[in-house]
Amino acid sequence: MPQTQIQAAREGTVTPEMERIAERENREPEFVREQVAAGQAVIPANKHHDALDAMIIGREFATKVNANIGNSETTSDLETELEKLHTAVHYGADTVMDLGTGSDLDEIREAHIEHSPVPLGTVPLYEAVKQAGSPEDITTDLLLEIVEKQAKQGVDYMTIHAGILVEHLPLTDGRKTGIVSRGGSIMAKWMEEHGEQNPFYQVFDELCDIFAEHDVTFSLGDSLRPGCLADACDEAQYAELDTLGELTRIGWDHGVQVMVEGPGHVPMHKVAENVQRQQEVCDGAPFYVLGPLVTDIAPGYDHITSAIGAAMAAQAGAAMLCYVTPKEHLGLPEEEDVRDGLAAYRIAAHAADVGTERPGARDWDDALSEARYEFDWREQFDLALDPDRARSFHDQTLPGDNYKEARFCSMCGAEFCSMRIDQDAREDGEMQVIDGEARTDLEASPAAEVNRPPVGTHESGALPPMADHEGGDPLEEPADE
Ligand code: SF4
Repeated sequence: MPQTQIQAAREGTVTPEMERIAERENREPEFVREQVAAGQAVIPANKHHDALDAMIIGREFATKVNANIGNSETTSDLETELEKLHTAVHYGADTVMDLGTGSDLDEIREAHIEHSPVPLGTVPLYEAVKQAGSPEDITTDLLLEIVEKQAKQGVDYMTIHAGILVEHLPLTDGRKTGIVSRGGSIMAKWMEEHGEQNPFYQVFDELCDIFAEHDVTFSLGDSLRPGCLADACDEAQYAELDTLGELTRIGWDHGVQVMVEGPGHVPMHKVAENVQRQQEVCDGAPFYVLGPLVTDIAPGYDHITSAIGAAMAAQAGAAMLCYVTPKEHLGLPEEEDVRDGLAAYRIAAHAADVGTERPGARDWDDALSEARYEFDWREQFDLALDPDRARSFHDQTLPGDNYKEARFCSMCGAEFCSMRIDQDAREDGEMQVIDGEARTDLEASPAAEVNRPPVGTHESGALPPMADHEGGDPLEEPADE
């Protein structure tokens, strides 16, 4: 009896999850199976995660976006954490990582899994540090115990910092910003204190057995990712990547699904090189990148600096983008930061899907453009990536119902509206009139399921309601005007 998606795929079985993904991605189930069997795509779907709506991460499929949530020592309660999950899914996260380090971690994690329709990822090392009290007091038994507990709870994928080895540490000496990965700095501290090899690396086979039993997907952490442009693509980063390639193959040998994490901070001219190198070293395992930020000069705008790199990475073959909010490097993000970060990353992902000519990706653009040209303002708002923002920006200057059919907006004004002038010219017979019937059939296209607005691809019924706030629950349909 196959235990994991990759084992089933290798045996030629199309699982219900693969059927569902084929439907969502407008691909043949057999193609999904082949990609999973070859390790070129992963389906993070823990057997115990009943609320999950299966999705896939792989370069042949729509680019996915992850949002990080989780509590800290200073802010921590169940209701707030569920609200964060709700916000992330509402604004379009395809997966969510719970990076909590505060209190009630088990209760919050179990509630997240119970309610989340998207895969949930964790970093077990954080809980290990919390339980041990300090990095140097972590034991391998504790690491295995926490990983097994989280696997039983239903975590779909886990970041495991197994690639940073004791022999890599001297390679970081000349760096401008040292080791910036939280997990990487913890493992480095442990290895320096104990003078031993990375404990995750030492027990990797045992980790694989736990992952296989519950079908948890590896997200192999890039502990030595660069923290600034000056450190990008250095010896330390690429030495760790070689180890991640080795671990990828060990995971596959155990029948476990694997994706690989990547940087970080990378100048534009080296983004594609990073993706190509990972794909070669890791035999095409899906690449899951954080940004990368393409410049270090803009704290407060790092959702933009990183979304530029993310779009380039996705165009080059990265499969999932971990979002960055405007608060990156500065503080814990609030709801509005999550919204801005997810919008930036969904734009990056969609732009890359259009740029790689993903089947059906551009239908969404075409449908919105047609609504825009026809001055169908309501349709334009509904199709927008963030309908609430599009509507509110328009209504700031022209709030009246009568302006919802107006042949202009306040940007150019009625007299100078180029689209109105163009249409009048066409109607006057001065230009050839285009076929007004040739509207894009968005409902019938894959975009109806993948990245289709309103944001998110999931029913909200499985999610807990948000606490009352001004403007009501954004999952509610907007009231008719
Ligand atoms: S006024 Fe300008 S911005 Fe507004 S609809 Fe017309 S052309 Fe577009």
